[in-house]
Amino acid sequence: MMAQYLEIKAQYPDSLLFYRMGDFYEMFFDDAVKAAEALDITLTKRGRHQGEDIAMCGVPVHASDGYLARLIRKGFRVAVCEQIEDPAEAKKRGSKSVVRRDVVRLVTAGTLTEETLLDARRHNYLAALGRAEGALALAWLDMSTGDFSTGPTTAEDLEADLARLQPGELLVPETLGAVAEVREALDDWHTALTPLPSARFNSQRGEEVLKRQFAVASLDGFGAFTRAELAATGALVAYLDDTQKGTLPRLRPPQRVEAHATMAIDAATRRSLELIRSQQGERGGTLLSCIDRTVTGAGARLLAERLSSPLTDPVEIDHRLDAVAWFMERPALAAKLRDMLRACPDLERSLSRLSLGRGGPRDLAAIAQGLARAGEIQQLIGKAVSEVALSRAPRVIAVAAEDLGSHGGLVGLLSGALVEEPPLIARDGGFIAPGHDPALDELRQLRDQSRQLVAGLQGRYKDHTAIASLKVKHNNVLGYFIEVPASHGDRLLKPPLNEVYIHRQTMAGAVRFNTTELAELDSRISRAADQALALELSLFEALSAQVTADWAAISLAARALAVLDVGAALADLAAAHNYCRPQVDDSLAFDIRGGRHPVVEAAVAAQSRASFVANDCDLGEGRRLWLVTGPNMAGKSTFLRQNALIAILAQIGAYVPASSAHLGVVDRLFSRVGASDDLARGRSTFMVEMVETAAILNQAGPRSLVILDEIGRGTATYDGLSIAWAAVEHLHDVNRSRGLFATHYHELTALTGKLEALSPHTMKVREWQGEVVFLHEVGPGAADRSYGIQVARLAGLPPAVVTRAQAVLQKLEAGGQSGPVTGLAEDLPLFAAHLRQSAPPPAKASPLAEALAGVNPDEMTARQALDLVYRLRGLLDE
Ligand code: ADP
Repeated sequence: MMAQYLEIKAQYPDSLLFYRMGDFYEMFFDDAVKAAEALDITLTKRGRHQGEDIAMCGVPVHASDGYLARLIRKGFRVAVCEQIEDPAEAKKRGSKSVVRRDVVRLVTAGTLTEETLLDARRHNYLAALGRAEGALALAWLDMSTGDFSTGPTTAEDLEADLARLQPGELLVPETLGAVAEVREALDDWHTALTPLPSARFNSQRGEEVLKRQFAVASLDGFGAFTRAELAATGALVAYLDDTQKGTLPRLRPPQRVEAHATMAIDAATRRSLELIRSQQGERGGTLLSCIDRTVTGAGARLLAERLSSPLTDPVEIDHRLDAVAWFMERPALAAKLRDMLRACPDLERSLSRLSLGRGGPRDLAAIAQGLARAGEIQQLIGKAVSEVALSRAPRVIAVAAEDLGSHGGLVGLLSGALVEEPPLIARDGGFIAPGHDPALDELRQLRDQSRQLVAGLQGRYKDHTAIASLKVKHNNVLGYFIEVPASHGDRLLKPPLNEVYIHRQTMAGAVRFNTTELAELDSRISRAADQALALELSLFEALSAQVTADWAAISLAARALAVLDVGAALADLAAAHNYCRPQVDDSLAFDIRGGRHPVVEAAVAAQSRASFVANDCDLGEGRRLWLVTGPNMAGKSTFLRQNALIAILAQIGAYVPASSAHLGVVDRLFSRVGASDDLARGRSTFMVEMVETAAILNQAGPRSLVILDEIGRGTATYDGLSIAWAAVEHLHDVNRSRGLFATHYHELTALTGKLEALSPHTMKVREWQGEVVFLHEVGPGAADRSYGIQVARLAGLPPAVVTRAQAVLQKLEAGGQSGPVTGLAEDLPLFAAHLRQSAPPPAKASPLAEALAGVNPDEMTARQALDLVYRLRGLLDE
């Protein structure tokens, strides 16, 4: 067995080998050590190899999904090695022969299909990076849904493209790691990288593989693929072939995604805007969590996908907006649709499991149920579409209605064939409904009749033996048998009864017998049951084949359901929170009236404090760059981000949190908000900030939207100010992007006189009884003060520190431009000295205070109190 193990393991050096032994997957040697640690399970020993103990650990097959999930999440790959013959077969070759085994599947992060291993509401992409003729391209697919796309990329765009896709696994040619331009972009993905021999990224092979997969003579019908795209797709499909051991998943024909068809958003921007994951890596508090009202997994996946890749084509965007508007005008229809969708199982994922041969009866039932719902939804939508004047229905809705197709035949077949609640896996049978297959019914009847006959035998044998406590029982070893208490056993062992009752087993308190008649019935039952099971399994195969034959149409229907779900969900969101339809075109406008931050607004509402203050933002010609000043906590970051989020929402074709919005398409979005240390990459806060600012100043163009929050604060004041100053000039003169630049360097407002399109704005604050009150309102002009000390007081800094800070500030402000800092240390005592010196000397208590100190009001009578008041009054006069 070890020889077999080592032989198989040698073919999968980079994977943990799950070696099937009975009801367990066992791991040996190093694999066992790594897995035991990763899974926190016991490491044991079994036998010896070359004089050393063999380390071993194992996981039960029935619970293996959970362990697999943990290993994959920790970055392992797992080769699943099954027994591929019946142990009985192996025995025929000799009692010592080993059961044949082989790897049936390589489980990697990008090739998961199991419900338990996947997040129902997100795509899990397997991606490949190809290179040919000096160009780069990405291909990506979601095995669990069959979505398959490819598109060009460049060394500059790669980072943003990967940030958009968030691949679970990324295949790269081994040699590409050495290419400097892409190494940086791949750095973030090192845990997801799977390097493969460069020969695997062969464009010619890619073309052949695709033609074969989609049974076409030419790929032209799918689009004009570049060689780099073919190289990437080829590697992708070949990798599937390897990992799935020949059972290729069904894939939709690859969609070509043109360069710049989507808004480029790099990873740092996605992090800072918290689109899909929060800065802490969680789902809560993100834009997605705030706007997601979809009711199906497929809808949620589509919404997340759209949010990751906003469009840049105003026409496409308008089509999507039309669909949202259509649902908004028909709230009753939308509500009904959402109710129907809620009862809709995940068609896409059941379909892909069935086509990979990993499905079960419950997947068939899901297909039947999902398609039945799709049919009802088609009627509902079709009726509404036909009610509007010819060709007035939004294109998205009309296409979806058509894509839902008609699957009545398949639904009828499946729902007639399956029992009400079929089991998850086919292995044990019991899922085909009575009446579907006469042969199966007959076998089941035979089995059941025989069981009844057996039941009848107990009474007969009781009478015959006159043993009232006789029972007919069943177990897996003996099959059916007769059991009598030990005290009666002897009688059956002697003539004449022993001619009928054949002894099988003597137990502590009972003796077991058989009869020819019972044995015959027993074998009839088990034969019928075996035949029934075999027949059921073949019926399952036939039904699965029917489903996969219809694969293309079913997956279109599934996609249409997702599209409708997203449209109705966005309409629901817009109605609930008073969002408006944005006007998106090819201009350079950016005019948002009454804009709000969807996430902060929800947070403010949840804490039931004052309501969120809406703000305008107009970055039109002549004022395309806003310089936003104001104290900390005044709402600068919120204002900056909300405008970026509104642009994203508008370009995914959603309504936006504003009273009106007109924007010219944004092709690239940059946002940097308060840099934080990137210890993992050994960079200081300031370095990160500068690297990110460099990326913006090098890449942003007139169609970009740039959000910069407090850059330069990670270094000394004058350094920081100078950098911020130069960055504003560059953004204004060279990049010429629309942008918002928040800063606490009020000195920068001097630039507004010099740069014609720089427009100063400030967060309004009011001072009230020495406290600051934030109005969260953006107005023209510049902040005069930063109120840092007031904010510090609000935060609970010790009063002595606050007082001292105020004194230092006054001194600094009085110093003006002429190097105020130099004189400060001499002019003002050092902090500690100051405290010592200026701390009030233990003052002599006043006579009034002394008189009061000894008084305990609780012990005083009214009379005594009155006396005290007279005494105090007297003291005051003295
Ligand atoms: P800054 O960037 O100026 O330090 P933030 O944008 O972080 O300030 O805002 C601080 C807090 O003020 C937010 O967490 C939020 O609670 C509140 N806030 C910000 N903007 C608004 C607004 N427009 N309406 C109501 N509250 C707001």
